[in-house]
Amino acid sequence: MKPLIAGNWKMNGSLAANAALVKAMLDGLDGKTPAADMALCVPAPYLAQLQSQLTGSAIAWGAQDVSSHEQGAYTGEVSATMLKDFACRYAIVGHSERRQYHGETDLLVAEKARLALAHGITPIVCVGETLAEREAGQTEVVVKRQLAAVIHAVAHCTSEIVVAYEPVWAIGTGKTASPDQAQQVHAVLRAQLAAATQHPERVHILYGGSMNAANAASLLAQPDIDGGLIGGASLKAADFLQIVASAH
Ligand code: PEP
Repeated sequence: MKPLIAGNWKMNGSLAANAALVKAMLDGLDGKTPAADMALCVPAPYLAQLQSQLTGSAIAWGAQDVSSHEQGAYTGEVSATMLKDFACRYAIVGHSERRQYHGETDLLVAEKARLALAHGITPIVCVGETLAEREAGQTEVVVKRQLAAVIHAVAHCTSEIVVAYEPVWAIGTGKTASPDQAQQVHAVLRAQLAAATQHPERVHILYGGSMNAANAASLLAQPDIDGGLIGGASLKAADFLQIVASAH
């Protein structure tokens, strides 16, 4: 299985900046097949721009969230069918910033994952513990609880999701989980997937949390780390391409 390196631009960008960043990535690839599958998850208003710049290229695109409702009176929400109109391949669900700042629960995240899949969009399901939870020895319990809700909701489609292990204390902080720390949690998640699907090896389990050009190779060398979800470093073409090149 080819690794997957997905960028999460978060709430950054402008038409001009995006055009330059995407062009630099495409120029860097120079028409060659990258060592990893690549995707960029961007703010919803820029999906049309990414679609027009990336169609026919090696880079897929996606959203950073999706509504848990099909349609209707949900002001500010963006539905899975709307994302599909812009040919999104992926939607991040349950990013810790959404769990933390928008009160998203395990159940809500699971419903988002279910709806995305129902509309042919691969959910990138984020799980991860806070520093307090890690220090209390709760890491395994927390990530398993978060993933269990999604497995319950998507049932026989479990092998079609992407999971991203993102320790909250490592996101945007410059503190990365060590390759061993990350591998330990990835192995737990793989075992949980194995109990739910016949093909746990088909599920990409990404690591996210201050992954960068310097530390990517050692993280991606771990047996159960199948790629990365990259925040800050996905805003720099050279760094993002370097991470992609570190994947085997
Ligand atoms: C993220 O937002 O998913 C993330 C991993 O951010 P960063 O790489 O900046 O820590």
